[in-house]
Amino acid sequence: MTDETDPARADALREALAQVHDRIATACRDAGRDRGSVHLIVVTKYFPAADVCRLVDLGVTDIGENRDQEASAKVAELPEQIRRQLTVHFIGQLQSNKARHVPTYADVVHSVDRGKIAGALDRAAAEHDRRLDVLMQVDLSGAQGRGGVSVDAAPRLADAIAELPHLRLCGVMAVAPLGEDPAAPFERLARLARDIRAQHPEAEWMSAGMSGDLEAAIHAGATHLRVGSAILGSRPAAR
Ligand SMILES: *Cc1c(COP(=O)(O)O)cnc(C)c1O
Repeated sequence: MTDETDPARADALREALAQVHDRIATACRDAGRDRGSVHLIVVTKYFPAADVCRLVDLGVTDIGENRDQEASAKVAELPEQIRRQLTVHFIGQLQSNKARHVPTYADVVHSVDRGKIAGALDRAAAEHDRRLDVLMQVDLSGAQGRGGVSVDAAPRLADAIAELPHLRLCGVMAVAPLGEDPAAPFERLARLARDIRAQHPEAEWMSAGMSGDLEAAIHAGATHLRVGSAILGSRPAAR
């Protein structure tokens, strides 16, 4: 919290956030969707807690983080009244040892891609006497690498998550495959989301769309966008 009064940074964030809101509004209009059906999660990975405070001042209610240590330290640094206004989403890959720690600071976990992770999150949530909102991360590339359950195995994993008493299955999440038109993969995700919802009506979310492909995601039916660099600027390369 060293430069909370840096007015140039606050202006840059205000401007970039307004541009992203314009893009979302335009895409919703083009897709014939209600603007209220699309939620913005601002991905603050690599950027300091001071930026999170500035974003909350600008009306941001949801942030996303992808690395356990960084996220945990950053959330701990937030003043209590800022933390209270914020929903913290964990969007990074998880190992089961990390999974035990994430529910100590995150409200929602987007990256559940196997039963072992779900079990670890369920036990951690139980220890903290709470229920954790989770999404199932789906691999749309067919190449395995950036994490995610395959489309074919997803319904079984959804059933397994729904059995766990301290998890609430909110829906599906995915990253579009690199170097490919995202329209078809996002449509695959949307079809899967509908199939999952038919079995688990509370699984209403489709978390998809980043700085470069949020329009395609909105067209396919995304309910939660995860946007980082278009708002915060490009990330430092060497980390
Ligand atoms: C970093 C990240 C984002 C945001 O990406 P940008 O291109 O910076 O908008 C979204 N989702 C996940 C899983 C990420 O790791």
